[in-house]
Order: sequence, then C-alpha cells, then structure tokens
Amino acid sequence: VTSRPPSLARAAIVAVGSELLTPLRVDTNSLFITEQLNGLGIDVVCKAVVGDDRAELAHQIRYARARAELVVLCGGLGPTDDDVTREVVADVTGRALLEDASITERLRARFAARFSGEMPAINRRQAMVPQGATVIENTAGSAPGLLMEDASGVVLLLPGPPRELKPMLRALVAGALHDRASGSPVTRRVVRIAGRIESQAEEMLQPLYRAWADAMPPITATILAALGQIELHLSARGATTGSAAACLQSAVNDVIRVFGTDAFSVDGRALEQVVGDLLSAAGLTIGVAESCTGGLITSRLTDVAGSSKYVERSIVSYSNSAKTELLGVPAELIAAHGAVSEPVALAMADGIRSRARVDVGVGVTGIAGPGGGSPEKPVGTVAIAAVTVGETRSRVFRFLGERELVKFQASQAALDMVRRMLIG
Ligand code: ATP
Ligand code: MG
Repeated sequence: VTSRPPSLARAAIVAVGSELLTPLRVDTNSLFITEQLNGLGIDVVCKAVVGDDRAELAHQIRYARARAELVVLCGGLGPTDDDVTREVVADVTGRALLEDASITERLRARFAARFSGEMPAINRRQAMVPQGATVIENTAGSAPGLLMEDASGVVLLLPGPPRELKPMLRALVAGALHDRASGSPVTRRVVRIAGRIESQAEEMLQPLYRAWADAMPPITATILAALGQIELHLSARGATTGSAAACLQSAVNDVIRVFGTDAFSVDGRALEQVVGDLLSAAGLTIGVAESCTGGLITSRLTDVAGSSKYVERSIVSYSNSAKTELLGVPAELIAAHGAVSEPVALAMADGIRSRARVDVGVGVTGIAGPGGGSPEKPVGTVAIAAVTVGETRSRVFRFLGERELVKFQASQAALDMVRRMLIG
C-alpha cells in the first residue's frame, strides 16, 4: 500500500559508480539533475558520490531520504554484478524485486534488432523491478528508469550514461515530477563581464546586491571568476516565470548601467559569439596572426556556427622567420624590439590585414612559458594588436598562470580588444 507522498521541495542526489571516485571520471549528471530540478523550484540540499558498494550505497540512500523528499540516484543500473543500485534500493525501501516480463521482452527485441543475437542472460537483471515501482522508458539505452513513492517521498533511479539520463529526466520534469513539485520555479540569467578583476566587480556590485535582496521576488546573485572574464549569475523564484523574468531583466539593466561596455554578454553568448555577431552585423571580415596562441583565437571564432561569413583566414606564425615570411614583419623590427613586443604585434596585425585583404587584422605574440621568460618580459607577457581601417589598438598584457592559462587569457584579451574596437 502506498500512501500519498509529500509534495517535493527538497532533493538529494546520489551518483553511483566506482569510476566516479577515481580521477578518471567526473560526476556531471548531478549538475544536469540540479539544473532540471531547480527549474521546477526543487532545491538540491545535498549530493553524494558512492562506489558500487552495497553497504555504502544503502547508507547514502537512508541519509538522503532523511534529508529530502526526492532522492535521485543515477548509475549502477547495468547488467553486471557490480551494478547494485536496483537491489539496494529495493532492500532499503523494503520492496521485493520482481521480474517485469514486458521489460524482458523489450530487452530481447532490442538485442535482436541491434546486435542480431540472443540477449545475454545477465541482462535479465535489468528487468527486475522493485514491487510497486513505475517503469520509465529508456529510448536511448537498455536499462529502464524506476520511480517509487511512499509516505516519505519519491525515489528516482536513472541510468548513468548522460545521453540516456537526460531525455528521461526531461520527460519526467515535464510530467510526473512537475505534478509533484511544490516550489515556484527558478529563473536564471548570466551576465559576463570583461576587463575587471573579481574584487573590483564585487565592490561595484555591493550596492546592487542590497537592492536586489529587497526586490520582489528577491534576486540571488553569485559571482564566479572564470578565466579572463567574470560571470554574474542571477536567479529569482517566481510563482509565474514572467514575474521572475521581469525582475531579472531589471537587475540585468542595473548591471549594464554600472559596468557599461565591460558587460559583454547578457544572453548566454560567449565572447567569440559576441565578436562574431558584431562582425557579421557590420559586414566585416577578420584575419588573425597568432604566435603564442597557436590558433586558439581562430579555433574559438570558428566554434561559432556561420563564422565562414567573417573569418577569412589566419596564420600561425610561431617562429620569427614565419612572421617575416608569411606576414612581412621586418626582421630588423624583431631584432630591435624582440618578437614579443607591441611593434611586432602591430606589424603582424597589419601583415595579416593587408595580405588576407580583411577588414580587421589581429596580431598576438607572447611568452606562454614555462621557459622563455626574462626579467623584462616574464612568462605571461603577451602583446596584442588589432587594426582596422582608421583605427589601431595595441597593448602588452601580463597574464598569470601556466601555459594553457596564458594562452586562453591571451585569446580572451584579443577577442575583447576586437569587440571594443567594433563597438567604438
Ligand atoms: P549501463 O546500462 O550503461 O551499464 P548504468 O546505469 O550501470 O548503465 P554506469 O555503468 O554506472 O551506468 O555508467 C555508464 C557510463 O555512464 C559510464 O561511462 C559512466 O562513466 C557514465 N556515468 C555514470 N554516472 C555518471 C555521472 N554521475 N556523471 C557522468 N557520467 C556518468
Ligand atoms: Mg556501473
């Protein structure tokens, strides 16, 4: 007999799989699950990662059930001996495990169609269902999901592979979970800011935080320093998504008022997309001469669909002779100022602009490290230039961090220089 479960306001997530306790695999499912549940107004109050271990898993399930009305487990629904989630959940919730003949049939049919052969006997484990559980169809894999409810709440079991879990959870969020959720949904916006350090941005945001806390509905703000940019995450709960969205829009307007053109994205677009949209709108083409970034800037520009409209070509000119031969940078200029210098970055930008006959030329030359630094030009020194008709910008940056980080920050600074040039 199942009595009516409480409506769902709090959730706990348990990710199951011994590989998730090694350095080889990261639990990403819980992030997706959190995002989906937040959309229903359900808060995630705790999460755990456990290996394929019966005792540990039983403990975590009991703990999770005590903390939240909704417990979402993912992983360990496979056919092998180490996949124990189904059995442990049946055990903890005091249900018998019974074979569901219709699932067995579906598994057999799937095997026949996909592998043109008999289903291995061990796969019958995937047809075992705790008594009274609802079976959730898995259109992308073999293990079905399971949903159980009793007086203390709902337990949901989903398979581990993200490509199977995602469509199943989306369907549940539109259906069974939606009907059982009690909270009001959370709406989010992200504002991305360039050219500020975190503490500076934080200081500028302080007065806004106070106003936002008193807004109706109140706005929660989280600042995340990412590489070469700051992300401000804003969220609000509203009985209707309309009221939360309107409130967030006014908060976004506040941020734009305070940060001006430093706030480069308010609609989820990445910097390369913002730059691409500006180029596209102005009907301009771009070419990049890259040294220390090794093509990263062009790689990012071409991550954007439709970039062939404005990316003409780029040149990776790593050596001095490449800068001279491919871009026409005078050898004497390199000898006089060094390869990592503003005059050389400018000559690279000019070189690619005239040789590729593009509207915007960009030149980047720097020391990514760990070797190659000197007292005057330490590792992380990067000269960047952007040139267009009638306008020239250049600057020497000092980035901190290891090779990869220096390369990324250089790409970010170059794209931002182009962005600022295009908006005037
Ligand atoms: P299967 O029927 O495929 O065996 P399963 O439910 O047993 O399903 P697992 O064997 O635990 O799933 O995991 C299958 C794959 O999904 C593995 O590659 C695993 O790394 C990945 N995976 C499992 N859990 C997570 C997670 N929390 N986040 C990201 N990937 C995961
Ligand atoms: Mg497994």
